[in-house]
Amino acid sequence: MRRKLVIGNWKMNGSRVANAELLAALKEAGPSVAEVAVCAPAPYLADVALSLQGASISWGAQDCSAFESGAYTGEVSASMLAEFGCRYVLVGHSERRAFHAESDQLVADKAKAALAHKLTPVVCVGETLAEREAGQTEAVVKRQLSAVIHTLAHCISQVVVAYEPVWAIGTGKTASPEQAQAVHALLRAQLKAATEKAGEMKILYGGSVKADNAATLFAQPDIDGGLIGGAALKAADFTAICRAAA
Ligand code: PEP
Repeated sequence: MRRKLVIGNWKMNGSRVANAELLAALKEAGPSVAEVAVCAPAPYLADVALSLQGASISWGAQDCSAFESGAYTGEVSASMLAEFGCRYVLVGHSERRAFHAESDQLVADKAKAALAHKLTPVVCVGETLAEREAGQTEAVVKRQLSAVIHTLAHCISQVVVAYEPVWAIGTGKTASPEQAQAVHALLRAQLKAATEKAGEMKILYGGSVKADNAATLFAQPDIDGGLIGGAALKAADFTAICRAAA
């Protein structure tokens, strides 16, 4: 049985004071049956690492460079994230694909760089509203995942996949449990063709997950937890979502 995983994606939000308050409240809520992690903006990772030392919550980053080091101004390498104790790093979030023109291959290369430093890449895939309405959901998510499968080869079982329909991110429109499960099943089948460990891999759902819809989403057979944006910024909401994953 796969243990549920709930990851908070703080995006470009927070401050040192606000983060300290949020993390104190999450720690106060106590351990969850699900595995819990927060992905913070890079400048806050040292604070987050200090605050979560010894707690049952892991931490991670929201992006990493595909390169090891060198003349890549503004980039943060996977080895730097590893130095701050990160366990996870998001790669290919739709906001990065859209606002930073990240290609499927670049996302795959980032996942490879993360694995080289023992970070677990959380590979985000998902279709836009136009793609869904054009009946292209399956083709789009398969294409996005396929680049990662080809680049990582036998290491593919070490990633976490997050299905995040772009039309559901930050919009308040959640995919129905049936819509989400259908895509998760497709992704699981694609992973099964690539690795015999596909049944052990986690596939998270993300897109306007809230305390009141989390339980039904997480009850679907191929949904192994969530990637949570807006609701991860409020301790009570995030804690309730983590409990729904128990
Ligand atoms: C996200 O940013 O990954 C996300 C799912 O955001 P939200 O929960 O706000 O839709």
